[in-house]
Amino acid sequence: ETAIELKGISKTYKGEARAAVCDVSLKVKRGSIITLLGPSGCGKTTTLRLIAGFERPESGEINIGGKLMAGDNTWVSPEKRKIGMVFQDYALFPHLNVEENIGFGYRGKDKKQRVQEVLEMVNLQGFENKGVHHLSGGQQQRVALARALAKRPEVVLLDEPFSNLDTNLKQTMRNEVKRILKKANATGILVSHDQKDALAISDEIVVMKDGIIQQKGSPKKIYQFPRNAFVAGFVGESNMMEGVVEPGKRWIATDIGRIPCNQYHILTEGEEVLLSLRPSGFEIAEEGDIKGVVESLSYVGEYLEARVAVVNQKKKKISLLVYLHPNEILKQGDPLNLRVSPNFVSVVKS
Ligand code: ADP
Ligand code: MG
Repeated sequence: ETAIELKGISKTYKGEARAAVCDVSLKVKRGSIITLLGPSGCGKTTTLRLIAGFERPESGEINIGGKLMAGDNTWVSPEKRKIGMVFQDYALFPHLNVEENIGFGYRGKDKKQRVQEVLEMVNLQGFENKGVHHLSGGQQQRVALARALAKRPEVVLLDEPFSNLDTNLKQTMRNEVKRILKKANATGILVSHDQKDALAISDEIVVMKDGIIQQKGSPKKIYQFPRNAFVAGFVGESNMMEGVVEPGKRWIATDIGRIPCNQYHILTEGEEVLLSLRPSGFEIAEEGDIKGVVESLSYVGEYLEARVAVVNQKKKKISLLVYLHPNEILKQGDPLNLRVSPNFVSVVKS
């Protein structure tokens, strides 16, 4: 069941030459969480504002809960759309307590009970009478989320929800926001410029650049198989490598050796391609084809980040970024053979 659908929506701000959002189409399943991910200025907030009804698209359609909200002859005002919004700065009312903030704008007779329900969802029972300025950043965010959920919206929109939180709290709140949205059975559309947020919280990621969707897919799909050089470079890190498709289409001949590839359905024998090799796709293997020497090492805790100079080709110097198990005992100058898994090899268009 589709909770929200955008069909070819575009928006150009007055006096701007370029569209902030350009022909964006998107379908979000009820109960799922998607993240619009991209650098600052790529049109994420504008997309949210179009969905909420704070901006009007020049073209395209917006459907929420199967009803047309914006289209050629249709316009539904923001307060009539079933949208809950969590703003980047939370936008809580400083002179109201927690209960009043959450109940603000709630019209039902069961207000008291509903406030209790959402307080429980966000684990803030007992905070009813606290002033919001006495709360921590994480608690303020819970209040903002509770307020958005109170009205039982079709979709909850969250703009950069973690950008004001420090690293440890960020990690906790990612899990919390996900847990709360899932518990409320809500559909969530998040906006973030941080790939870690997107990978950790989303059922689906939509990568945007210059107002245009670059790729949609599950976090795993986006990470393992970026479709173009922008996605490969923006979501995680990547080694880019030119190559030629071998007969049989299961291997690509490159300057560092033969690279396995399981995207044969999109390949043509003899074709020149650009590959993205994820640093986490490599492992040390005695029989590995890629022969190299450790250039530099940096221990990051979760993994060991290595630069490996490839030695089995003489044309030009190639150095690979490789994430190894943190238990590996290596030093600069050590020789090693590497193998790469086809699950981390993607054919990209630049
Ligand atoms: P993001 O949220 O991804 O950082 P925005 O949607 O805020 O991106 O902005 C997209 C583009 O539209 C940017 O080039 C930005 O400068 C421009 N823009 C955003 N809001 C306005 C506005 N009110 N008037 C004119 N241009 C705007
Ligand atoms: Mg923004």
